[in-house]
This record gives sequence, C-alpha cells and structure tokens, in this order.
Amino acid sequence: MDTCVDDVKAVKMSKEAKKRLRKQIKVSHTLLKHEGIPTASQPTKSLVVANGGLGNGVSRERLFAALKEMGELENLAMPPHKPYAFVTYRSEDVAQKAHARLNGLQLQCGENSVTLYLTYVNSVSCESEVGASLPAGLVLVEDFVSPEEEAVLLAAVDWSSMNVDVTAQKALKHRRVKHYGYEFRYDNNNVDKDKPLSAGIPEECVPILQRCMRDGHMGTMPDQLTVNQYQSGQGIPPHVDTHSAFEDTILSLSLGAKTVMEFRHPDGRVAAVVLPGRSLLVMAGESRFLWTHGITPRKFDTVPACNSQTPTLTSSDISNHSNLTLSKRGTRTSFTFRKIRRSPCRCAFPSACDSQGAPSAPTPPPPSLPRCHADAARLEELYVHRVYNTIASHFSSTRHSPWPRVCHFLSSLTPGSVLADVGCGNGKYLGINREVIAVGCDRSSALVQICTERGYQAFVSDALNVPLRTATCDACISIAVIHHFSTQERRLAAVRELVRLLKPGGQALIYVWALEQEYKQKKSKYLKDCSKEHSGSQQLTDSTLERSGVPGGTVSVHTNRTPFNSQDLLVPWHLKPDSKTKFSPESKPKSGADGGSNPASVFHRYYHVFQQGELEQLCDQVPGVKVQSSYHDQGNWCVILVKDRETCNEYAHTYYETGI
Ligand code: MN
Ligand code: ZN
Repeated sequence: MDTCVDDVKAVKMSKEAKKRLRKQIKVSHTLLKHEGIPTASQPTKSLVVANGGLGNGVSRERLFAALKEMGELENLAMPPHKPYAFVTYRSEDVAQKAHARLNGLQLQCGENSVTLYLTYVNSVSCESEVGASLPAGLVLVEDFVSPEEEAVLLAAVDWSSMNVDVTAQKALKHRRVKHYGYEFRYDNNNVDKDKPLSAGIPEECVPILQRCMRDGHMGTMPDQLTVNQYQSGQGIPPHVDTHSAFEDTILSLSLGAKTVMEFRHPDGRVAAVVLPGRSLLVMAGESRFLWTHGITPRKFDTVPACNSQTPTLTSSDISNHSNLTLSKRGTRTSFTFRKIRRSPCRCAFPSACDSQGAPSAPTPPPPSLPRCHADAARLEELYVHRVYNTIASHFSSTRHSPWPRVCHFLSSLTPGSVLADVGCGNGKYLGINREVIAVGCDRSSALVQICTERGYQAFVSDALNVPLRTATCDACISIAVIHHFSTQERRLAAVRELVRLLKPGGQALIYVWALEQEYKQKKSKYLKDCSKEHSGSQQLTDSTLERSGVPGGTVSVHTNRTPFNSQDLLVPWHLKPDSKTKFSPESKPKSGADGGSNPASVFHRYYHVFQQGELEQLCDQVPGVKVQSSYHDQGNWCVILVKDRETCNEYAHTYYETGI
C-alpha cells in the first residue's frame, strides 16, 4: 500500500516535468506504432502500458497491484519479452482514471525503476510479438497447481449420479460434464442466470481462484464452474463461449493427461496449443471473443518434444517437423471457471458478439450428421445450397479447366446424343462436345444464371428430382455433386435419379471426392497444390483417422490441402472480397490473395468423401444398371454406369422427399 501512495504522489509534478512527460508519451506512441499496436484517440476500456512489460523486468504481481489501485480490472495481458503490457478495466471511467493518474508513474521493481506511459487501444493485440499464430489475449501458465492440489480437485468431483439434481450432471455424447453455480444449457448455449444451482463452486477451488485473482489472471471471483472429463478419443467441437452469458476472462485448469486445444480465427488461422496437466489457460480479449476453441476427438496428438520452448504449434512447425513428437492421450479433466454476465457484452468484436446483434453462433459449430430427412435437407440447405449461391461468382472463376477424363467421356458420345449434366455448376462441361444436345441443371440459381449468361441451356433443379422425363437421355454426368448429400440414402437416391433419366443402354459418368487423396503413391493435385505449406506426408492410419458417419456424430472442419481425417466434413471456402459482385468472363483468380482476412468471407461446404469401393457399392444397390468401369482420377472416385437394355418400369418418376 505504502508504495502505491508514493506512486500516485510521483505523478504530481512540475510544469517542466509535465512537458517532459508529454514528450515521452509522444515517443512511446511512435514506438508502439513500430510494434504494430494501433492506439485509440478516444478513451476506451483498454490501455497499453508502455514500459510496464515483462521485457522491462516488471513482474505481473507488481504491475497488477499498481493498476488495481485505480479500480477493477477485467484483464491484464503481458506478452513475453516485450516492454509493454495491456490492461482492460471493467469500465471506461476506471480506464480514464488510470490514464490520468498512472501516466508518468515511476514503478519500482526490485533494483530498477521504470516510468509507465499509458495509451488507449481499441483492442488488446499481442500479435506482433508472437507471430500471427498465437491468439491475442491467450495466456498459458504451466504448473499452476501442485500435484497435491490436482488430487484434491479431482477428488472434489463426485461423478456418481447421487447428486445429479444438485449439479446438473450431464452424460454428453462425447464427454462427462458437470456444472456448479449455474447450469450451462447446450440447447441454447446459455445459462439460466436466474436459476443458480444449489451447489456453488466447491470450496476446494477457492485457494486456486484466489491465486488467479492475486496474479491478475482474473479481476473478479468466478461464479460458475464447468467440469469436463474427456476420455482418450473424446473432444469438443470448436465454439466461442457465448458473449452474453459470461464476462470476458475465462479460466480453464487442465488436470490429468495433456491434450491439444485448437484455436481458430475466422480468417482461417489456426493455433494448436498444448495444455499440459496442472496448467492454467487464461482466455481473454480476442482469444475469448473471436477465436473458436475446440478439441479434436483423437487418440494421439502431435506435440513439441519435451525440451521444446513453446507449447504452441503453428502450421509451419508442423510442416517443418520441428522437434515434434506423438503423444498418446489419456483422461483429462478440465475445470472451467467463468463469471456470469449481468449486462450486455460491449466487446470490440461485434461481428462475433450476440449482445451486439451478431447471430449467436458467429462461426457456427459444426453440425451433427443428420438423423432424418429433415435434418439432412437442412444441413444441405445451410452448408451446400446457400454457400454455393453466395460464392457462385468466385467459385465459377476458379472452375475454368475441365477435367480431361470427363472431356474424354463427353467426346465419345455419338453426335445427336441427349446429355444431362446434373449439378452442372458454371456449365464448364456443357460446351465440350458441340455435337450433342446438352442441358444442365444445378441447385444454385446463381450458378444456373452464369450458365445462361454463357449461352447454355440450364435450369434450377435438385439432383434428387430432375424435371425431365424418364429414359430420355443418352448420357448423364454427375461431377462432384453426390458427395454433397449427407446421408447414404440420399446419395443412393441421387444415383437412382441419374439412372432414371437414362435411356436403356445409356451411360452415366459419376465423380465424387475421394477420402484417399494419395493413390498409388501419387498425391492428388488438391494435396500437391499446397505441399509447401503442409508436410503432406501424413499417412492415413487407423489411429489418426476418425471415421464418423454415425448419425448424430459431428462433422469436422477440414483444413484445406491436408489429408482428410474424416469422411464427413466441412471444407472452408475463402471468398474473395471483390468476387461478391456479378460474374464477368474476364475475372480471373488473382494469385496469392487468399481473400480470407474478413471473417464474413469464409464459408463451409459439407462433403461426404468416398472411400475406395464405396461408390461402386452404392451403384450396385441401384437396380437395372451395371458398373462398366471405375477409376481414381486426381483425388476422385469415378464410375461409368450403363443402364440395362431390357427395363424398366420401376423408373417411373417417384417424387423424392427433399424437405425443401
Ligand atoms: Mn468453451
Ligand atoms: Zn461480445
């Protein structure tokens, strides 16, 4: 206390000193600019404290004590090795007080003394110091609790169902969960703020929480605890903790086995953070509000080897194989402490903030695999139809070169043949063979519009109900379409519909995306295109491949240009900002630009990637047709079907329920 009274006195100064201070503040602004820290001209809740950094020998405890004198803190972020820190106060008033009274403060830290300069910032960003990969506002404290404390905490959780009414224990599909203080509801991703549970936070946690407060990791005492227990192979889908439900800082204590938590920025950046047992993870600011966090269900993690400095993996680490090792997962128990929010969130990330009008799930959590037709139709509506309509122009501008073997099939058709391209996209196959009568259809009106502008015959139609008469086509093609259907039944119905359209003796060519992107020791173009960015040498093995396909199982988000680790996935599409405008034939994809810097520009498309043999098996279930040939072509499984000559009353058009 004494030192703090001195501290405040130190700010009362002569005119001469004030002049010097203004000059110094100006210098610190310039330095901050060099560090890439944008300062705010208007007061905000957050300040950058120049000279108050770990790099100046300022300890967290010392700085926290001085800052805390001004009022309640929401967060204190001290990037490693840097001469500055970031403080976020609970209100702008307190921040203004700190700005007025702490500027020029001489802080004594052991032997040396530093002068603090405070400047408002709009958001707390530590990006400049850690490279682009580590989420800003994220702090990991290793060995935060002792092995003894770990044992006490684990023993405090009673997993028996005896107290199920008290703490709302839930047997979630993927992990065991128990709530204290307030129940978190997974149906609406929120808490019943008016219905506290009778069991509050167990008293065993109190000393640990006090330590968190003392060290400045959290400004107020949490009032909600969620305990999750993950067995090896279990995980949690990526999500952002609902802004309106909880205050900024979230503390997560990892007990038991270590695991890897993945953080994803809406622009596609990913950081895999290794959470050792007995460590504390503090999520605040951008890492809490904007990045999603999740744990991929697997049995092994790739982690830095034990003597490595950093617990965080970046994609370049992975590609360089720098000092990595495999770690078998055991049982991990996490204690997540949060503070229930009582007033709307006013964070600096409105695009992700449900309090500020953003949809409650800014980066929607991956959907579950459908259990019924309605689910399936909804999934496809959200993750296929809407996405293609939105990305149509950009998508089309990247789909100019027809695949040679598809062209070969089209060129082999007899002049005068009637050809239907079901799921024709931008129509790139409709003009290949000028001697056939080609008609295309697609579910995306935006893509059909592009076909029409190019002078092709195309209409909007679902691939399950094509409004053409039965047995009217000499040939049908379905290129990269059937993998967008989310159940086996619907994929089968799509093949049946193609066969229905064929005349007896007619041929259908089907292409679907293959799980096996490396075939006969050759990588597909899809993998090769980015072989510099990723190791590309990951092999699909039973231990790394989590085959989903179970109704209700999750659809995982795929990392572009890497091997697939699941058959049901969401594949990100990074929309270029300038491509939202109408298609123009001269618009060519610009190289290098990813266009993904705006979070709103990443869209996820659902795919079911086929395993070797799966497409043939599917076609075998359709009566009246034979698989004439099948092959692997650039990461796709392909078949040519021939409809039987004698047939086929069973192909009278039966309306298939698509749920639209
Ligand atoms: Mn969470
Ligand atoms: Zn918010």
